[in-house]
Amino acid sequence: MTRAAPLPDSFRVAVVGAGISGLACASTLKARGARVVVYEASRRPGGRAATEVTPVGRFDYGAQYFTAESSDFESWVTAWRDDGLVERWTAQVIALEGGRTLDKTASAERYIVRDGMQALGRKLGADLDVRLDSAVASVGRRGSSWDLLDAGGRSLSHGGFDALVIAVPQPTELLRRAPELAQQASSIVWQPCWAVLLAFEPASGFEFGGVFVNDHPALSWATREDTKGPATGGIERWVLHATPRWSALHLNHGADEVAETLAQAFATRFNFGFRPTLLSARRWLTATPANPLKSPYLWDAGQKIGAVGDWCGGPRLEGAFLSGRALGHAIVA
Ligand SMILES: Cc1cc2nc3c(=O)[nH]c(=O)nc-3n(C[C@H](O)[C@H](O)[C@H](O)COP(=O)(O)OP(=O)(O)OC[C@H]3O[C@@H](n4cnc5c(N)ncnc54)[C@H](O)[C@@H]3O)c2cc1C
Repeated sequence: MTRAAPLPDSFRVAVVGAGISGLACASTLKARGARVVVYEASRRPGGRAATEVTPVGRFDYGAQYFTAESSDFESWVTAWRDDGLVERWTAQVIALEGGRTLDKTASAERYIVRDGMQALGRKLGADLDVRLDSAVASVGRRGSSWDLLDAGGRSLSHGGFDALVIAVPQPTELLRRAPELAQQASSIVWQPCWAVLLAFEPASGFEFGGVFVNDHPALSWATREDTKGPATGGIERWVLHATPRWSALHLNHGADEVAETLAQAFATRFNFGFRPTLLSARRWLTATPANPLKSPYLWDAGQKIGAVGDWCGGPRLEGAFLSGRALGHAIVA
């Protein structure tokens, strides 16, 4: 395989979005010599690989775990395991469907991030120039370079970029200057998800750590978070995910009401009572792309603007990571 020459370090690339796809793209480019700046709207990197730390322990309320289907991603997972960042999640996983309980533990190798899923974003972003709290509202052209603007029309980019990568869900507006790319992005149907953080006593006594609830109108999945790290003094921690349909129907309901309803549904479905010590809900408006594109990324070589994400690479963490890396390689090829 012929290796492309390193880029001149004057080649500047902006990446919008510090989720797993944006960070993977940025680090691929940086490794090849580009000067990369990542702009992130929120106060933390990682995007939907998100962890909330509470007084009763951690909750991964976005991605719960990840799998590695391709050998390329598997080699990254091996390196992360060797570093102590990632480990196998060995909890029993079951599925409830059609009145039956199926054991799904061996259906996939599942991996978790030892310090919570968000630590993966922190790790990928550690050597990068990531500007947090920097929402990009629009992008413009200044000569042959790209300029990034905030909601007040102020430039965020101080000098412009040679190439621009949009790594956010629903990127249509930011791709406006590349209408073919924008059109493809706008074809994606996004499904929402309500996620509930629940801690309670007394112990449930359940043997499983994860359950696909395929027979319930509201619940789709529950994870026992305390199977993913050190136990926290007898309090059980769970994350409950609602189905896309239920989430869409209850999109504008209050978070407290949603948390109560889903906790009650969990108690009823599993036929046990508990006293919550923590109960709250988080809403993902763009949780899952229902119809991801077949191509791993979009790229307009003339204007040097592209897009990555799980809506290109496949609707999981692996897809997002590989999407970012693939465009990073394509830009420097
Ligand atoms: C509830 C839930 C459960 C999931 N479960 C799993 C699972 O079990 N296994 C699995 O593999 N995957 C799972 N996923 C999917 C996985 O989390 C995603 O596929 C992956 O994290 C997507 O990464 P991304 O980089 O494409 O997008 P994102 O993670 O969405 O990153 C986009 C980033 O862009 C930022 N951003 C958005 N707009 C702007 C802007 N205008 N300016 C600057 N920054 C901006 C956002 O704040 C975000 O940080 C789950 C997702 C959810 C929501």
